[in-house]
Amino acid sequence: MKRYILLALLITMTSSLFAQLSNPPGLNLIRTEDLRKDLYALADAHFNGRSAGTLDELKASMWLGEKFRAIGLKPAGDDGTYFQYFSILRNHIADNSSIQINNTPLKLWKDVAIAQMANINLNAPIVYLGNAADVDTNALDVKDKVVAIEANSKGINLDVSLPTWRYNRYIYNKYGQALLKRGALAIIFIADEVAEKGWDDAAENFKRGNYDIEGGPNQTVTAQAPVIWLHANAKKELQGNTGTIKMNLIVSQYSYPSLNIAGMVTGTDATLKSEYLMYSGHSDAHGIRNVIKNDSIYYGADDNGSVDVAMLANARAFVKNPPKRSVLFVIHGAEERGLLGSKYFSAHPTIPIKNIVAVLNGDMIGRNNTDSATILGFKPPHRNSLDLVNMALAANKEGPNFKLNTTWDEVTHVEGWYFRSDHLPYARLGIPAIMYTSLLHPDYHTPQDNAENINYPKLKKMADWMYRTGWKVANAAMRPMTDKGFKLER
Ligand SMILES: [Zn+2]
Repeated sequence: MKRYILLALLITMTSSLFAQLSNPPGLNLIRTEDLRKDLYALADAHFNGRSAGTLDELKASMWLGEKFRAIGLKPAGDDGTYFQYFSILRNHIADNSSIQINNTPLKLWKDVAIAQMANINLNAPIVYLGNAADVDTNALDVKDKVVAIEANSKGINLDVSLPTWRYNRYIYNKYGQALLKRGALAIIFIADEVAEKGWDDAAENFKRGNYDIEGGPNQTVTAQAPVIWLHANAKKELQGNTGTIKMNLIVSQYSYPSLNIAGMVTGTDATLKSEYLMYSGHSDAHGIRNVIKNDSIYYGADDNGSVDVAMLANARAFVKNPPKRSVLFVIHGAEERGLLGSKYFSAHPTIPIKNIVAVLNGDMIGRNNTDSATILGFKPPHRNSLDLVNMALAANKEGPNFKLNTTWDEVTHVEGWYFRSDHLPYARLGIPAIMYTSLLHPDYHTPQDNAENINYPKLKKMADWMYRTGWKVANAAMRPMTDKGFKLER
């Protein structure tokens, strides 16, 4: 009997020794306690939801830069600092804009929401078109007319994340575009039940306007037609075609600062240290918005504090055990405003861009079941490096052993998520890139995305996975190849 126990013990010891041999050396520096402590600090109410372009984002970025310094990363931003500043160009509707229906002034955002901005001053009768489901928007004479049309959700798939954020855009795409193409001067959508339910979320987004960096498509508001939303009760006033609108919209344009936070570990190999493995995340969240379940701070603990603190943990592991290649950590600003930080860094890199051998981006890695996760960029047409994907798969097998959900790269996937995170600008440049995620959840972009709701054992496993992959990439004899014929569908 004793002999069997001894034998069993011996087998256990050898196999755990074996596992340790295949573990990268800094793995024990990725600690659940650190992840938890850092995330509670970064997703704290102190930072007010880290909205891009605000002092809150700047403050959180200083906190992250100070972490980089304390951990021992070298500065990799501009001018020997941890930071790279850039300007966000923002357009939004000025507060002194006004809209009257039948000579009654409406309260901006409460009574009327402006979905598409324009500098315009008009006084016109309103042509009521009826319910969207009943009219053929491609066959109407709407030239130079202000038209009102009742929204209808028929045929629109709302089984998608953030339906209240997207519904107005779906309605615009389905009905509004055709009306503008036929020369409508302005469109008034009348809210149906779905739009009424999503009004507060949608109005918060409209209110903020749009954002870009220099040279981007949203930089200027061209002479486009305005699109506005009224509540359902406007229908009875407009139905008889006796309605009028007076609209004086002023688009205010200005720039304000955002920034990327960048630090690095120098590689140990005389030749390979000029190449960089890059970790990528984003610092910003959604700030303070409409109240949901008694809270108005959109903390962004999972999105994307989870990745930022996993990057800090990875940095601790790499600082103590540098690999052959150098390792670059970039936490981007203004991701939620349209991937602005990654667009800027990839266009103004602080190191030669062709020396970045791979980008390991992460977006939301701290929620859902502990045993499942995925990477985007896993399958064509989004996969741009089979080499890199294979390293991530091997790392998964050796460590966390997640069941992978591989449907997210399908071009028919309703989320189109591949196009919504910071790996994208790098992938477009042909740099091998993947995105780690523990996938979406109902608290996504709500105040309930907070530090209490994070699954910390899961976050630890995700941080391990990113580290194990990074260790392979940073020490491999050959850098991962970009797939021949890589071409995104849009
Ligand atoms: Zn995100």
